[in-house]
This record gives sequence, structure tokens and C-alpha cells, in this order.
Amino acid sequence: MADVTIDWDRCIHSGMCTTIAGNVFGMGPDARLVVLHHTVTGADLDSVHDAAACCPVDAIGVAAEG
Ligand code: SF4
Repeated sequence: MADVTIDWDRCIHSGMCTTIAGNVFGMGPDARLVVLHHTVTGADLDSVHDAAACCPVDAIGVAAEG
């Protein structure tokens, strides 16, 4: 289980993470990133790690809980 954070000063709302981890990230009606789940596990956590590796501005943080 891990907490997902976004560095909103860095995020450019490219949406790339929404295609890689669509269960966790989405785009709002204003074309800005929305975090759908702040705590993730299992396959969703794997997807978030993949998204973090692909984020063009390194804005995605993953912090293990417990
Ligand atoms: S991939 Fe990175 S820059 Fe693009 S929307 Fe996601 S967090 Fe923001």
C-alpha cells in the first residue's frame, strides 16, 4: 500500500499518467489532472510506478505506508 502524491508546481497536465494508470489518474473537465485514488495497492501501485517513470517532469511521488 502506498500514498500517491503530485507535485502540482511541476505537473504540466500532459495526461500521460492517465493512459498508464487510468484507475488512479484522470483528467478533469478543465483538462487538468485529477488524482482519483490517493492510496493504491497491487496492480494499481505497479501502474503508478510505471506512470512515475514516464512522467515528463517527474511530478509523481509514491510513498510506502506502514
Ligand atoms: S504525466 Fe506527469 S505531468 Fe503529465 S499529467 Fe501526469 S503527473 Fe502531470
